[in-house]
Amino acid sequence: MELKELQEICEKCQKCPLCKTKTNTVFGVGAQNADIMFIGEAPGENEDLTGIPFVGKAGQLFDKYLEYLGISRENVYIANILKCRPPKNRDPQSDEQDACIPYLREQVRLIDPKLIVCLGRISALRIIKPDYKITSEHGTFVQKGKYVMTAVYHPSALLRDPKKKDDMLTDMEKIKEYAVKHGLKI
Ligand code: SF4
Repeated sequence: MELKELQEICEKCQKCPLCKTKTNTVFGVGAQNADIMFIGEAPGENEDLTGIPFVGKAGQLFDKYLEYLGISRENVYIANILKCRPPKNRDPQSDEQDACIPYLREQVRLIDPKLIVCLGRISALRIIKPDYKITSEHGTFVQKGKYVMTAVYHPSALLRDPKKKDDMLTDMEKIKEYAVKHGLKI
């Protein structure tokens, strides 16, 4: 299967009730052979309206970190656990995550990144480990199966609590250092 085919399947998916309330499916964006894959939890309002992940206020803040560090959005891949927006931006429910995560797994398999960066607590809990503590473990690198993973704060958490921005910058700098050291495309 190719990414385009997987995207078409997601666009027609009715595996959970979010398909009834979404405007667009937000599959993912970026390089199909990206070395770094950023994974958030779910689309928000602007993402739902445009079909593109991380384009709202939080996404624009995230772009500033990428730009500051010289990481091109076009060279990485950005996706979410859920492909459809939960109403009123509530947290993804576990049954919705269970329904949607096989698509993300296939997406990861097809892209085959060398580094997975979870954006936020919910993504880290689901992808790295079920007892992940974002406040104490953000910015640490772990090997899980064939993938190296890390997690940073979700950009929307930085909007709610700007004091977290220093930690975010440090973590993103570590990601850049890791990428440079291991020759990853940025
Ligand atoms: S969120 Fe995922 S599982 Fe639910 S309808 Fe959308 S694509 Fe299907």
